[in-house]
Amino acid sequence: MISVVIPAYNEKDNIPILYERLKKVLESLGEDYEIIVVDDGSTDGTFEVLQELAKVDEKLKVVRFRRNYGQTAAMYAGFEYAKGDVIITMDADLQNDPEDIPKLLEELKKGYDIVSGWRKDRKDPFLSRVLPSMIANWIISKVTGVHLHDYGCTLKAYRSEVVKDLELYGDMHRFLPALTKRQGARITEVVVRHHPRLYGKSKYGLGRTIKVILDILLVKFLNEYINRPMYVFGYVGLLLLTFGLLSMLYLIFVKIFMDEPIGRRPLLILSVLAIISGIQLLSTGILAELLVRIYYTSKEQKPYVVERVINL
Ligand code: UDP
Ligand code: MG
Repeated sequence: MISVVIPAYNEKDNIPILYERLKKVLESLGEDYEIIVVDDGSTDGTFEVLQELAKVDEKLKVVRFRRNYGQTAAMYAGFEYAKGDVIITMDADLQNDPEDIPKLLEELKKGYDIVSGWRKDRKDPFLSRVLPSMIANWIISKVTGVHLHDYGCTLKAYRSEVVKDLELYGDMHRFLPALTKRQGARITEVVVRHHPRLYGKSKYGLGRTIKVILDILLVKFLNEYINRPMYVFGYVGLLLLTFGLLSMLYLIFVKIFMDEPIGRRPLLILSVLAIISGIQLLSTGILAELLVRIYYTSKEQKPYVVERVINL
């Protein structure tokens, strides 16, 4: 079964056209499917449009958020409700072509877990969107070690098991490939078409690229260290402690066997400091380790609140 997940925030004019085209593509595949549109607190009547469509089509499922929580939260909710073994994400604004979906599925069949769209010929303003994205793409590629041309393209296909258990927040949806890579996901890219927005306005501008870059550094940190804070604190603590103890031994040796005074040696102070801070850091590491455990086991709260669902 295929689940198409579509976050939508004030897209009332785009939804009916998208729905028609998507429906045609999905019917032609001859497989079971569902379309999950997550209305991210729209105020323009998007929900009413969806309601009308969903009345006569139970394959169209709607999740309505209580307010605007952002694209990532909407996607996350879509993943939670999705029943398919394949999940496809796309924007509601028709900048992506639903007709490209079979292409993504074909790659998935070759054994990949994630197929990411590449907007080779991107139809967005150059200075405010394309150029910042180029910089962000370069950084993300360097930092994550997952090499794609276009991390920002929302049109992607996933084998659902690779995204099901992820906890998403912030602007993290664009790092899904990087996040899943560490679980061994096989990732590839296919060129997809891209169009200027038909109706409505883009919700993003330049400021977002900076957020994206900060996010990726955080993701990097989360990926590598958050699960094992002992590796950060403990490592430094252990080094300091070893140094402190060794130099203390040396000083004791000097004092006892060579009968020299050690009270005025700078090494004495260094050694005492190293021992104290080494112990401190080690215990900080242990505490942090505990915190991480608690963090992972106590997280029940979702980053969004659902007001209504239809056909779910
Ligand atoms: N979107 C959303 N919540 C938001 C902002 C955007 O669900 O707070 C949806 C929006 O309706 C669209 C997709 O996310 O389907 C991408 O948004 P947009 O087209 O504004 O971004 P751009 O294509 O300009 O990067
Ligand atoms: Mg768009």
